[in-house]
Amino acid sequence: MVLVEQVSVPMLSVQPKGKQKGCAGCNRKIKDRYLLKALDKYWHEDCLKCACCDCRLGEVGSTLYTKANLILCRRDYLRLFGTTGNCAACSKLIPAFEMVMRARDNVYHLDCFACQLCNQRFCVGDKFFLKNNMILCQMDYEEGQLNGSFETQVQ
Ligand SMILES: [Zn+2]
Ligand SMILES: [Zn+2]
Ligand SMILES: [Zn+2]
Ligand SMILES: [Zn+2]
Repeated sequence: MVLVEQVSVPMLSVQPKGKQKGCAGCNRKIKDRYLLKALDKYWHEDCLKCACCDCRLGEVGSTLYTKANLILCRRDYLRLFGTTGNCAACSKLIPAFEMVMRARDNVYHLDCFACQLCNQRFCVGDKFFLKNNMILCQMDYEEGQLNGSFETQVQ
């Protein structure tokens, strides 16, 4: 199967006169004055969202990515499909010569490898956890555990 990958910037346009367009997200007619045109389809401003994090992609300047029928924001696209050369925390490219930290399939800048809730750095031997692709220290992980579900422990 060949995956088609498109990158395009959504455009806010004024509803053309005449027949109302249908929204590709919710399949309802778009009655608003403004609508978004992306991927050759029309969308409510609220309906063009990232499939992962639900952020609105219609905001000015945001780029959307599609792959395998998913519409994604830049961050999630890089997280899911980016090369291993991208830091999973800040999404920036990691130069080949730079030291990295690895956790599961993710790589991180040394500077980025810290608890993403409290910014605590880890020393050799410290426990860290991956939850929803976030690095967590033991304390924040256990707090999250009390509040709901969690993923597998890594180390
Ligand atoms: Zn809609
Ligand atoms: Zn997203
Ligand atoms: Zn980084
Ligand atoms: Zn923490």
